[in-house]
Amino acid sequence: MKRIYMDHAATTPVDKDVVKEMLPFFTEKYGNPSSLHSFGREAYNAMEKSRENIASLINADKDEIFFTSGGTESDNIAIKGIAYKMKEEITDYKGPHIITSVVEHPAVMETCRHLEKMGFKVKYLPVDKYGIVSIDELENSISKGTFLISVMHANNEIGTIQNIDDIGKIAKEHDIVFHSDAVQSAGKIPVDVKKIRIDLLSMSSHKIYGPKGVGALYIRKGVKLEPMIHGGGHEKGLRSGTENIPGIVGFGKACELAKKRLNEDAEHLTILRDKLIKNVLNIIEETYLNGHPEQRLSNNAHFRFTGIEGEALILSMDEKGIAASTGSACSSKKLLPSHVLMAIGLNEIEAHGSLRLTLGRENTDEDVRYVIDVLPGIVEKLRKMSSLWGKKLEIEKWKKKMKK
Ligand code: PLP
Repeated sequence: MKRIYMDHAATTPVDKDVVKEMLPFFTEKYGNPSSLHSFGREAYNAMEKSRENIASLINADKDEIFFTSGGTESDNIAIKGIAYKMKEEITDYKGPHIITSVVEHPAVMETCRHLEKMGFKVKYLPVDKYGIVSIDELENSISKGTFLISVMHANNEIGTIQNIDDIGKIAKEHDIVFHSDAVQSAGKIPVDVKKIRIDLLSMSSHKIYGPKGVGALYIRKGVKLEPMIHGGGHEKGLRSGTENIPGIVGFGKACELAKKRLNEDAEHLTILRDKLIKNVLNIIEETYLNGHPEQRLSNNAHFRFTGIEGEALILSMDEKGIAASTGSACSSKKLLPSHVLMAIGLNEIEAHGSLRLTLGRENTDEDVRYVIDVLPGIVEKLRKMSSLWGKKLEIEKWKKKMKK
C-alpha cells in the first residue's frame, strides 16, 4: 500500500545528507569536546561549526547559540531562566510578570503554569478567530513588574504566524525581554534576530529534517539567565552535561540545508498546500479551514469537518496509508479538545472534528492528489455513521419544511 507522510509538524524524516554528516561522530570522531587531545578537538570543532550554521540561519552571532535537548528544553530554560534571575529584583508583584498567549505549545504553557505555582503572575493573552494575539491587548497588559513576553512565532497546530515584529517593538519600548518559540518557524520562514527585536528564541532540530533530541536557544548578548542544569559548566555554565555531538552535527547540517533551500521549499510547499486547501474545501461540503487564510506556514493545512470525529478520521486515513494528525503530537493521544482550537472560538464538537495535514519536502503533487481522491469518501463514510451528522440533516430538513 502507498504510504504518505503528512505529519511534518510532529516530526520530519532526517535528511540523508544530515545522516551522512552525523555518522562518523558515532564511531570514528567520538571524542568529548571538552578533552584536550585531537579526538576532543575534532568534536569541539564540529560542534562550533554547527553553532555557526545555526546562528547563520537566524542571523545571530555564533556565541549567542546554546545547545539544548530540543524545543521543550529551550522554552524551559528561556522562561524559567529569566524568571529565576528576576525573582530577587521584582518589587512590583501586582501586574503580570510574564505575558504569554493561550495558543502556546505546552512547553511554554506548562512552564508558565509551574511558575504561577512558584508565585509569579502570568497573563495569558486571548487570540482572534485566526489565532492572532492582539498587539493592543498585549501592550495594555504590561505593568511595572512585567519582565518577560513569550509569544510563539508560528503555531504548531493551525500554522498561524504571529506578528512578532510588532511584539518585539513593544518589548523593546518597554524594556522587557521577548522570548519566541520558533520551533515550527525557524528553517521554514525567514527569522532574523538582528531585524526583529527578539531576545530569546527556541529552535528544534527534528522539525527541520535533523535528528531528534537536540535543539538550541538563541540568547541575545547581554541577556542573563539562571542555569537550569548544574554540573561541569558546559555551554558557558548555562546547561551542563557532555554535548550530544552527533545530534549537534546533524542539527547544524539541517540548518545549513534549510537556509539554502528556504525559498525553494516554501515555493514547493505553498503550491501543494494551496491545492490541498482549495480542493478539500471545494469538494467536501461543510468543511472549513482553521487558522489564518494567508498568514500561515507554507506547509500547514488544518481543516474542520462538521459531523465527524477527528480521531476516527485519522484512523481511516491511516488505513489508506496517509499519516495525519488531529493537532499537536503531544496532545493527539489524549481525547481532550485542543486548547488552540478552543482558543480560536471552536466548540468541543468542532474542535474534535479537525484534521491537520502538514506537508514536507518529500511530498509530491501525486501525494496531494491521492489525499484529494481519498478524503471525500472517508468523510462521507464517517458522516453516514455519525449521529451528529444525522441530527444536522434532520434539523435542515425540518427547517426547510417550516419555511414552506
Ligand atoms: N514548541 C513547538 C511550537 C512545537 O511544535 C514543539 C514540538 O512539537 C515543541 C515546542 C517541542 O519541541 P521538542 O519536540 O524538540 O521538544
